[in-house]
Parts: sequence; structure tokens; C-alpha cells
Amino acid sequence: QWIFLNDEFVTKENAKISVYDHGFLYGDGVFEGIRVYSGNVFRMKEHIDRLYNSAKSILLNIPYTKEELTNIIVQTVQKNGFEDAYIRVVVSRGVGDLGLDPYKCPKPQVVVIVEPLAIFPKHLYETGIEVITVATRRNRPDVLSPKVKSLNYLNNVLVRIEAHLANVSEALMLNDQGYVAEGSADNVFIVKNGVLYTPPGYVGALEGITRDAIIDIAKDLGYVVKEEPFTRHDVYTADEVFLTGTAAEVIAVVKVDGRVIGDGVPGEHTKRLLEQFRKRVVSEGVK
Ligand code: PLP
Repeated sequence: QWIFLNDEFVTKENAKISVYDHGFLYGDGVFEGIRVYSGNVFRMKEHIDRLYNSAKSILLNIPYTKEELTNIIVQTVQKNGFEDAYIRVVVSRGVGDLGLDPYKCPKPQVVVIVEPLAIFPKHLYETGIEVITVATRRNRPDVLSPKVKSLNYLNNVLVRIEAHLANVSEALMLNDQGYVAEGSADNVFIVKNGVLYTPPGYVGALEGITRDAIIDIAKDLGYVVKEEPFTRHDVYTADEVFLTGTAAEVIAVVKVDGRVIGDGVPGEHTKRLLEQFRKRVVSEGVK
């Protein structure tokens, strides 16, 4: 397996960075997760744009143009030869001293890793998953915008710990006002009377690229999609609930905080959207 690390390809064993890197010391950096389906990279441009926007927001200068980084990602995929894989792109502030000061880090580090990934076992796409809502809150948009996909994922890690302790696959975070924000690494949708609802970005959700793809697909299928804040009550009483994410794709949620959603099995709308999503990821991707 070849990993792109600062201008060169190295083997997995040799892909090492310094303990003085501020990504390691402070979570100072940004990242992206991208999927390759049948050799096609799904929505590359959107991921690249989001990465550069995240970097701009934290005043981090990615040392490549968008075109150069796009080529590097494609090369890394080709060099590894995977037809279906997950790509992780990380840009950290780079090596500095032990202080916080990012101005003492002259060279951001860029890493591209490509490998097969499945975060949820296959059978869960058939059965749906159980989730809980947790005490960990999404950070406020005015503090660190959830639109920035930064290396500060401690909230998300805490969400996963809470899910693990409760023996469920995933958990939902609320924002500081109690509105449902998102999962640890996925966006949430509910379906009520055939209408799709998903929290708007300002509630405290990452503007997920899978979320956007599902909105596009749903609209093409004639669904009404509303970006509106909703509460746990709305989730408990929804006809269907599902999560979307680059790694998760589209996965049905059949139980939330012990409340059975709909009939307790993946609903017809969720199944239809997943089916269309699977078709589109192949047809839409670029080599
Ligand atoms: N929310 C968070 C916090 C994430 O990290 C991710 C990850 O990828 C998502 C949502 C889903 O976004 P996307 O569909 O772009 O992968």
C-alpha cells in the first residue's frame, strides 16, 4: 500500500510524521474522506472545495493548487489499484515547536491514504441500526464552525464512546439548544408523511457531501426536502430515520433512544434512496 506523504509516495511502514506536528499536538489541521466506487472518485470537486474552505477558515495554506491536489489523489488511487476504497486526505499545520503558535510551523504536511473501508457491517444495511442521543453537544457554529472539517474531532470521539458504552452502532449529537445536529461522522434525515427533513448547517451539522447527494436524488425522485431544525420528539415520531456519510453511505435507523421507528425495519423511502444512491455513485464518478 502506497501513501502520499509530502511530495512522495512511501510505503505504509514508512509513512511517519513528527511528534512535533501540530496536527498531532493540537489537532491543528483539516481533512476529507472521499469514496472511490468502481474506480471513480465520487464528487471529488465538492470534497476538494470543502477541504480548501476548511483550510481557509483556519488560515492554513495548502501547498498545492486544487488541480495539483486532485491529481495527487487520483495518482494515489491508481497506484494502490483499489476499485472500491475510501480516501483520507489530511493537511496538518506541520512541524513547529511545543507552543501553540501556528506561525512557527513553516510547512503544512499533506497525507493521502487510500484503503478499503466499511464502517458498518454489511448486514446492518439490511436490518437498520439502533442509535441513541448523547450528552456530548455539537460545538457552536460561532465558536468553531461545524462546516470546518478539522482534526479536532474530540466531540465526535466522545459521541462514539457514548454509543459504544450503550452498545449501539452510532449516536446523535444535539446542539446547545437541544436541536438534533448530526451523528459522529454522518448527517441525519427524518421522513414524515413522505417529506424529507434534515437539519440546516446553522443548527450545527457538517454540510455533508452525501447529504447533498441525497437531497439531489430525492428532489429528482419528486420528494419535498426541507432543511429545518427538529427535536428528538420529531425523530422519535418520524416514519423513517436514516444517516448519510461518505463512509456510512445511507443507513436506516430503526430505533432511537429505545423508541422503535416506523415498523422497526428500513423504510421504503430509505431503501429507495439507498438504491438510487448506489446507482449514482457509479454513474457520477470521474476517473
Ligand atoms: N458529519 C460529520 C461530523 C462528519 O465527519 C462527516 C464525514 O464525513 C459527515 C457528517 C458526513 O459528510 P460527508 O457526506 O461529506 O462524508
